[in-house]
Amino acid sequence: MITIEALHKKFGETPVLKGVDLRVERGEVICLIGPSGSGKSTLLRCINGLEHYDDGIVEVLGTPVDRDKKSIHEIRTQVSMVFQRFNLFPHRSVLENVMEGPLHVQKRPLAQVREEAQALLDKVGLGHRGDAYPQQLSGGQQQRVAIARALAMKPKAILFDEPTSALDPELVGEVLKVMRNLAAEGMTMVVVTHEMGFAREVADKVCFLHDGRLVESGPPEQVLGAPEHPRTREFLRRIL
Ligand code: ATP
Ligand code: MG
Repeated sequence: MITIEALHKKFGETPVLKGVDLRVERGEVICLIGPSGSGKSTLLRCINGLEHYDDGIVEVLGTPVDRDKKSIHEIRTQVSMVFQRFNLFPHRSVLENVMEGPLHVQKRPLAQVREEAQALLDKVGLGHRGDAYPQQLSGGQQQRVAIARALAMKPKAILFDEPTSALDPELVGEVLKVMRNLAAEGMTMVVVTHEMGFAREVADKVCFLHDGRLVESGPPEQVLGAPEHPRTREFLRRIL
């Protein structure tokens, strides 16, 4: 579903991605781990066209992600992103936030969009909060709204960039639970996370990024349980 080959990206003169290869199959959950500044967010942003890249291949469902506006638009409707900070529209209600994309980007009919948005809020356990405004919700609730909003576009895959790292510890679980359910339903997901319990339990593959390179990838029990690369070992020792 997502193919990345020999991906290179610089900011100015500084190389940030130095030849990344990654394949994500339909229904797969990939957890991307690595130290701060290793290029995790940049990699995600290259997948849905938020960031240009210098060299290599990025394809989503066979369509190259490149500077062509039409392809970027197509990719963004197929691949949603959930950020660390929830990025909800503060002056729109929760329900309106979820309806925004399907209504204004996809131009789908109001009645149908509202019904689906309500169903998505139910799914993330917030069916009763549709009329609230984002600032009236806890961080965990806001992040669940952000996930509902991502789902509203009916994406083929969702990219998560540290979805729980801005949350108070007691709110992390409710967001991970929603993500776990999505994974169980077969959603294709690429998740940048420091939640090793989640990675261990949910990921099909864990990829460790260090200094712009994927130095180790494999099943969680291998990468997290018996890492081969010294960098991976050092990283895990520091965060666990
Ligand atoms: P973190 O865990 O802190 O979120 P990360 O692995 O997501 O880190 P990136 O945000 O992808 O790392 O950044 C990789 C490198 O690229 C860093 O050195 C960062 O300073 C640099 N960088 C990221 N965005 C930009 C930008 N817009 N302009 C210049 N440099 C950038
Ligand atoms: Mg980041």
